[in-house]
Parts: sequence; C-alpha cells; structure tokens
Amino acid sequence: MKHFPIFVNLVGRDCLVVGNGAVAAAKARRLASAGAHVHVICDQPKDELYFLAQENLINISGRKFREDDVKGMALVISASGMPEIDLVVSESAKKFDVPINVVDRVELSNFIIPAVVDRGPLQIGISTGGAAPSLASRVRGQIEQLLPEGMGKLAIFSHDHRAKVKELIPEARPRRIFWRKFFDGKTARAIADDVGWSDEKDISSLIDGIAEKSETVGEVAIVGAGPGDPDLLTLKALHKLQMADVIVYDRLVTPEILDRGRRDAKRIFVGKASGQHTCGQEEIHQILLEESRQGKYVVRLKGGDPFIFGRGGEERSFLLSQGVPVEVVPGITAALGCGAAAGIPMTHRNMAQAVTFITGHGEEEPRGDWEALANLRHSLVIYMGVGSAGKIATRLIEHGKDPATPVAVIANGTTLDQKFVKGRLGKLESLITNNKISAPALIIIGNVVEESNLETVVGKHIGAQAEKNSSLNKDILSYVGNESGVYK
Ligand code: SAH
Repeated sequence: MKHFPIFVNLVGRDCLVVGNGAVAAAKARRLASAGAHVHVICDQPKDELYFLAQENLINISGRKFREDDVKGMALVISASGMPEIDLVVSESAKKFDVPINVVDRVELSNFIIPAVVDRGPLQIGISTGGAAPSLASRVRGQIEQLLPEGMGKLAIFSHDHRAKVKELIPEARPRRIFWRKFFDGKTARAIADDVGWSDEKDISSLIDGIAEKSETVGEVAIVGAGPGDPDLLTLKALHKLQMADVIVYDRLVTPEILDRGRRDAKRIFVGKASGQHTCGQEEIHQILLEESRQGKYVVRLKGGDPFIFGRGGEERSFLLSQGVPVEVVPGITAALGCGAAAGIPMTHRNMAQAVTFITGHGEEEPRGDWEALANLRHSLVIYMGVGSAGKIATRLIEHGKDPATPVAVIANGTTLDQKFVKGRLGKLESLITNNKISAPALIIIGNVVEESNLETVVGKHIGAQAEKNSSLNKDILSYVGNESGVYK
C-alpha cells in the first residue's frame, strides 16, 4: 500500500508517545526536535527518556495508558513493544480520529514515519510503506553519503535570501535560472564548505556576479580515486565526482569509479600506460586550464592519492600559477589499498617501525640511497617497479639486504583482477616473470609480508586461494586471485 507523503508542522502542538524503551526515546527526541510538546506515558522512565525529561524536552506521566490520553493530540506514537498495549493505543487513537503510528505494526497505524536524511531545512523522507524498514534505512545511508553536510547550510542560505532575490528578480524564469546557476556556482560550494558568505554581504553583488559570469569561473579539484575498488573512494571524492562538469582521468581509474560521476559529465581520458604516453603532462595542464576557463567544475581524477607518485603537485602549481582555484582531495594510495587487501601491515610491532615508498621508475635504473634502504629495519614499498624489480633486488642485496627477505607483489590490488604472489627478495624477478605479473603492480619488501595469510586475506571483491605451484621454486608460494573462481 502506498502512503501519501507529507511533512507536518508540529511546532507547539501536543504529541503523545507511549512506551519506555530506546525506541520510544528516539521517537520522543525526534518529535521534540521538530518543536512539538511531547508527552510520554510510561511506568518508570529509563535512560534516555529520563534525561530528556530532565532537560525539559518532554513531559512524562508515570502511569498506565488511558483511552482519553489521545484526546487533543496532533499525533500519537505507540512504542510500548507490548502487543496488547499497542492495540489499545491504536484503537483509542482511531476512535478519536487522532493519527496513530505503532512502531513496526503497519496494520495498527494510519501513518508511518519515514527514515530521514536531515540536512537542516533540507529533509528527505524515505518510506517503503512499512514493507521493508531496513531497506529504507539502507537507502537512507546511501543518500547520506551523497549529500554533504553543507547542504543544510545552502538550504538556510536560500531561505534567508529568497524574499530579497524575488524582489530583485521579480520574473519567475530568470529567477529560476539565477538559483540554478547559484547552486552550481562557487559561492554555493563555499557556503556548503562554511567558508563562503558573511551576512554583511549584499545579495545583489551575487546576482550581478552571476549575470556577469564571474561567479561561474571554473575550478579544478585534483581528486584521489583510490586503488581501484570504488568503495575505497572517499566521501569527498564521491561528492566531487557528482559535482563535476568535466572528469579528466587516468588509466588507473577503473570504469566502476567513473560510473560514480554524473552521467552528463564530459569525460576526458589522459591515460598513460607505462612506456606509451598517450597524453603528455603539458597537454594535461592545458586541458585542465581550458576546461576550467570555460567556467566548468573540473575533476582531475587520479589513481590512488594525487600526491603520491601522481604528479598532482605539478598540476596544482601550474593551475595556481594561472589563477585557477584548485583543491586537492586525498585518496587511498596503492600501498595502503594493496596492504589491506593482502593482509600486510605497513608497520608492525617489533618488525617494521617505518615504511618507505619509492618509485622503481627511472631513466635507466631506479635511483636511491641503496645503503640506507637496505639497512633500515622497515618495510619498503615500490611503485612502478615491475620492469626494474630485478635491478632493485640486486642493488638491495649488494648493499647488505638478506636475499631471503620476504617480498610480495600485488597487481591490480583491490580490483576484480587482483593478483597476489609472495616469495623471497633473491627471486623477485622470477617471481614476477613466472607469474606473468604486469603493471600496475606494487612490490612490498620486508618481514611484514609474512603476516599475510591469504585464507583470511581477501580483497573486497575476490577471495584468493592458496595453492602451491610445483612449477615454481619451492620456496615461492603463488596465490592467484580470481582464477580460482571460488569467491566470485
Ligand atoms: N598515485 C598513485 C600511484 C601512481 S603511480 C597511488 O597513490 O597509488 C602508478 C603505480 O602505482 C603503479 O605502477 C603501481 O605500482 C601502483 N598502483 C596503482 N594502483 C595499483 C593497484 N590497484 N594495484 C597495485 N599497484 C597499483
């Protein structure tokens, strides 16, 4: 059965809650926060009900429910949890024509209370008509993620300035266009982020700004997309993706992540595969500049974190030098994503007190202070090291690192194609070639690798099955993610 959705003004009106537990307290609190005079009937008020009464937010009558308690109430909620009481409350309310909700008993209710996403004046009610309350609360969780906390501030702003805007732009159509541009513009973003508007400012300057388009000067957000699993996007990254007019992305960004962006956003691929540069850094700078100068909100989406081997720093300083506002949103870097997926801690008590991220990418061979790297009792994480793994292992061993040091290689970590292999430093190169590991892959060197136990280590999407591969050196165990087909 479908219910008719309405939002009721309860300010100053009497409402009744029957019940004594946490559910009754939650209902009483919500009614009180909507400005109602809340009366609660229960025997001995416990916990939260007691505190709400102490704070004068509710009145408690410590006695049994009587039929005429419902008289004069704007609405009644029965949360007694006792079927016989709920029934009596429901019948009384119906007799006196007072709207009644019995918690979890849609058949005894004539209104239901939706799951609510609360952003100040912006309220979103979600209902399944009592069919599946837990589904409603799940949907609420998803909407919560989509709406930044700052949305409420925008609603308050628009409430405070509506009359003035109406006076300055009396015609409905241009006024609608003003509000649409305002909500898409940078002042709205700044208000939502709490850095935007002082009450002394005059709204007419904003109206002029929007008319002159200065309001719609573009911006770039350099956003970390995480290592691949879309659930590893941060909430802020998701919000930025949903705001973006233009998404400029790399090869490391998975299609599932791109799908979280606005459908109508323009997407520009500037991917760089190792060795074949589709788009040079200069060209990327120019694309970001041109798109933002057209007043667009541009998201530069990068795999992992933009400031870890991501050239985010260069893009940021270039854009700033051109007067384009830039924001950086961090992401989960591959080391952390792969470590979690493989069950390898980066630091571990009595095993590794530090961790170093290095790049294996170099003109001829990777540069590094090999002596320092070899001697520290810590974890070493190598990005972009598939091609140079043999040289790196040789350098480390020449400088004193034990060839028996455990190593792990994780390719496409956290994605459906995740591959994980484990072995010893002395055999790193053959570990990679024998298992046909290709980029993007991460190498972790150090005793922490021993912590990985693939029985319990599964990526988000896949499980991995331990299997001893007889064609490999016997001290190399190979675990290949989705080839087992077991956990898909
Ligand atoms: N900014 C990125 C790193 C970009 S450099 C970050 O913070 O993660 C590209 C290298 O990152 C790849 O060559 C590989 O070494 C590593 N990498 C990125 N994503 C990866 C993944 N899902 N699995 C394994 N390694 C990954």
